[in-house]
Amino acid sequence: MLLAIDIGGTKIAAARVENSVIVERRQCPMAYEEAGFRLAIESLLQAWPAPDSVAVATTGYIDAGRVRSVNLDIIPFWDGFALGDMLRSLFDCPVALINDGQAAAWGEYLVRQQDRPQDGPANLLFITLSTGVGGGMVLDGQLRLGPHGVAGHVGHAGVRLAPADHQNCCGCGRKGCLEMVASGSALARQATAIYGRALNSAELFAMAAQGDAKAEAIIANAACAVAEAIAGFYMILDLSEVVIGGSVGLAEGMLDRIQRALAQLPVRNSPKLTAARLGGDAGLAGVVAWAKEQP
Ligand SMILES: [Zn+2]
Repeated sequence: MLLAIDIGGTKIAAARVENSVIVERRQCPMAYEEAGFRLAIESLLQAWPAPDSVAVATTGYIDAGRVRSVNLDIIPFWDGFALGDMLRSLFDCPVALINDGQAAAWGEYLVRQQDRPQDGPANLLFITLSTGVGGGMVLDGQLRLGPHGVAGHVGHAGVRLAPADHQNCCGCGRKGCLEMVASGSALARQATAIYGRALNSAELFAMAAQGDAKAEAIIANAACAVAEAIAGFYMILDLSEVVIGGSVGLAEGMLDRIQRALAQLPVRNSPKLTAARLGGDAGLAGVVAWAKEQP
C-alpha cells in the first residue's frame, strides 16, 4: 500500500492508495509546531495498515532531503525540518518528498496527456492560488524540480501591482511578490485592512458576488497581478497552457477575471488558461502519479 500525504499551509490530507487508485482519504488541520504536527499525522493515519512506501507533496521545497520554506511566515518550524526522517521513523519504509505545486503540475499534465496524447500541452505551468501562491512546471514533457527543488515557485515572481493595503514586504524577504497580492492570506489581509474587521478570502468573494465594489477591486487587482505574472512566464517559457488551481484560483469567477486581465495585455499567442481538473486534491493526485515513477 502506498500512503500519499499532501501537506499545505492550512491542512494535511492523506490517502491510502492501492494500484494507483485512492481507496480512502482523510484530512485534518495543519499544526504549526513540531510536536503537534507529529501528533496530527499519527492521529490522521490511525488504524490504517502499515504502508509499503510513502509519497509526500508538501508546501515549501525539498533540498537535500529536508523541507525548506521560501515564505518563513506560513509554518514557523518548517524551514529545515527533517520531514523525511520523521516519516521514516514512523513508518519504517521508503519516503519520497516533492513540493505540492510540482506534484500538482505533474498530475494536471498527465490528465491532459491522457485526454490528448497527440497534442497535449508540451509546456504547462500550474499556478495554485491558495494560502500562498505556488506552482510547478512541465517543460518539453519533463517535470522540472531544479537542483535545489525550487523550480515553479511562481508566487515569488515580482509584480508591478501593489496590494490594496500596500503591505508588499513578502515573507521571503523581498518586496512586490505575487503572493503578497493574490494569495488567500493576502486577500484576507487586504480585506481586513480595508474594512477594519477580520475577513477571510471566501467572505471577500461572497461580498464581491453581492456587488461590493471595494471587494471586487481587491480581487480584480489580484487577478491582474496573476495575469501580469503569466504574461512574463509566457515570454520566458513559451507556455502552451497555464492551469489555475487552489481555493482562490477555483473560487467563483477568479479564472474569468484572470482571463479578462490577460486578454488586455499585449501578449502574442497568450497561453490557454484552464482550471485545475484535479480540483482541491491536485497535490494528492499528482504525488500518487509521481510516486509511480520513483525508484
Ligand atoms: Zn516572496
